[in-house]
Amino acid sequence: MTKMKLLPLLLLPLLLISCATQSVPVGSGLPKNHDQARVVLAKRILQMPNQIQLMSRHVSGRRDNATAYKNMVSTAGGWSAARSSYAKAPGGYVKLQPAMLYGMIALANQGYSYQVSELAGGGHSRNSRHYDGVAVDICYINGVKVNYRNPYYRSLMRAARKLGATEVYGPGDRGHSGHVHIAWPRPY
Ligand SMILES: [Zn+2]
Repeated sequence: MTKMKLLPLLLLPLLLISCATQSVPVGSGLPKNHDQARVVLAKRILQMPNQIQLMSRHVSGRRDNATAYKNMVSTAGGWSAARSSYAKAPGGYVKLQPAMLYGMIALANQGYSYQVSELAGGGHSRNSRHYDGVAVDICYINGVKVNYRNPYYRSLMRAARKLGATEVYGPGDRGHSGHVHIAWPRPY
């Protein structure tokens, strides 16, 4: 009798995981293993090009393999994402963190379409969270360039905070007149 009652409970996590591989991989069905989770989430993001546009060049005009698009392709392939080596960027590689990838999908699922100018790449301030794989820069929202007249950036910033982002800047904040910066806590 006890065994019969326990069985469904034991099967539940397996069901959740198998569901996650078939449909939108967000929520409780996400694999517990972070390496698996980041691959599943990055693949999902690459399947949403109408909602999430990942730039394949840097705003700075510099050329390297650390663009937002290349960062995501690497992550979907199970690799780390490259950082840039110019300005104050430290070079090397970092893993994009699942909390950020999940947040990016959740924003799209809330109806925002947006363009990502940088993830781990690009030149940012020293010790920027970008270099730790937990920050995303957004330069267009719903087809409109981010600036103080953009009608969407404030609500997007609020939505990001609700999704666990703890460092959110935009027009009105120093250095962010043309993009929204959203960062989650560092994983360590
Ligand atoms: Zn930023």
